[in-house]
Amino acid sequence: MQVDSMTLHDAKNEISVPSGRVKIHIRCRQCGEVFILRGVKDHRGHVETGFRRCLCDNDKDFDIETVS
Ligand SMILES: [Zn+2]
Repeated sequence: MQVDSMTLHDAKNEISVPSGRVKIHIRCRQCGEVFILRGVKDHRGHVETGFRRCLCDNDKDFDIETVS
């Protein structure tokens, strides 16, 4: 039946547009290490990556940008 293939198509569209998922580029200002992570953006625009600290123990001195 045609209805089945329509349902499948809709579901596929939802997966290909993941709302709130962004790629984050983090560069350590102390040792220059670069991390590319996937984060989740909440409704206030805050991005949560789960990233805690660099290999050099730096946990607050970073250049962070969102890659779209
Ligand atoms: Zn570092």
